[in-house]
Amino acid sequence: MTVGDAMKRIVLLVALAACLAGPAAAQKGPLPVPTPRPDDGPQSAAPAPPASERPAAAPSTAEEGEADGKKPEEASAQPSEPVVRRMSCSALLEGRVSGKVVEPIREGQCGEDSPLRLSALGPVRLLHEAVTNCAMAEALAQFALKADELARKDLGASLAAIDAGPGYQCRRRNRAATGKMSEHAFADALDVVSFHLSDGRRIAVDADWPHLKAAPAEGEKPAPPAERADTPQARYLTGLHAIACKQFTTVLGPDANPAHRSHFHFDLGCHGRNCTYLICE
Ligand SMILES: [Zn+2]
Repeated sequence: MTVGDAMKRIVLLVALAACLAGPAAAQKGPLPVPTPRPDDGPQSAAPAPPASERPAAAPSTAEEGEADGKKPEEASAQPSEPVVRRMSCSALLEGRVSGKVVEPIREGQCGEDSPLRLSALGPVRLLHEAVTNCAMAEALAQFALKADELARKDLGASLAAIDAGPGYQCRRRNRAATGKMSEHAFADALDVVSFHLSDGRRIAVDADWPHLKAAPAEGEKPAPPAERADTPQARYLTGLHAIACKQFTTVLGPDANPAHRSHFHFDLGCHGRNCTYLICE
């Protein structure tokens, strides 16, 4: 190798080293000294961008309180929102009731996470749509099927429709100003006024229940059936009352108190330590 060849080779090597080290190193002149990185890898050569340039938070982070731009410590200083966990309802999924899922209800002490707006209980139409929870929808569907069976057997017509109240209502028991909240306040109750048969007959609790002549005194038992009106309509209503007492945890009819003279109240409230005590009046 000549002196010229040796010089050419040195120049080539220096140029190659400068190219490999990048423009910044090339500007500084002498060969760069590689700096070892603690976790060197294909991505680590690029420095992490400042926080302000990072992409938006991933969905999992957003759920933890950063989606609104608040830092986690700011979010945790705010009173936490109650968790709303909506659930599907098998009575609706499997067609035992007709209706639709509506928005969660939050109204003071009242509410329900997964309310349904019901338009029919199986083949039995609701004259007015009612808002209930899923458990009530299921129990009402069972009740309506049995009420239809009883109507066909004893009255010779099918049960076409039920006239009922709105179901959900944010109020206390018996609309009192104080006291316990009604199960209506949790979409866990329905008031039924009358039953409409396929042949046009209307059987109303107010008109057709075998009412007592006078409400029993405190501690006194209601009058025996023999002392009451005995009509097919009255027998149908007392039959429905008995069926309801197997479907709901609370059934209040005209015998319960004057507030229920004109309707049946059904709910699935919890009575007793294990929620198995039943109220059937
Ligand atoms: Zn009621």
